[in-house]
Amino acid sequence: MKKKSKNKGYNYSLMRCPYCGAPVKFVSADGIYKENKNQTMLYVCSNYPKCDAYVRAHPGTNIPVGTMANQKLRLLRETAHTYFDRLHKSGIMTKEEAYYWLANLIQAPLSQAHIGYLGEYYCKRVMEESMNLLNSPRFNKKKRKNLI
Ligand SMILES: [Zn+2]
Repeated sequence: MKKKSKNKGYNYSLMRCPYCGAPVKFVSADGIYKENKNQTMLYVCSNYPKCDAYVRAHPGTNIPVGTMANQKLRLLRETAHTYFDRLHKSGIMTKEEAYYWLANLIQAPLSQAHIGYLGEYYCKRVMEESMNLLNSPRFNKKKRKNLI
């Protein structure tokens, strides 16, 4: 039997929904996303839409980008990502430093330092801590110094 080359030997279809424990289906995002121009594939709870949990796969693979999330958590992650991105977009740290910062904040190895893995609690922590950093006089001073 030939295995799919891209699944790295792990069968993600054995995943269970973290909210209701139901099996998970790997399906096209058609009908779930308003538009699916990129032909995104999703892992969706088999109780969808009653249970609104899913996660998308990396394009062209069956590897999920994170853990399954319901709408509330998906929105939180989106917001947390915006805050996180500001850390390196604002220039107070590089993108690499920002991921080290995240790994340290969530007490996880760098390989797992991705917003897509975060639950509600750590999404909120990322937002709070990013805000603190962005508003910190220390960084504002540093930024000013760099401009001189
Ligand atoms: Zn479910």
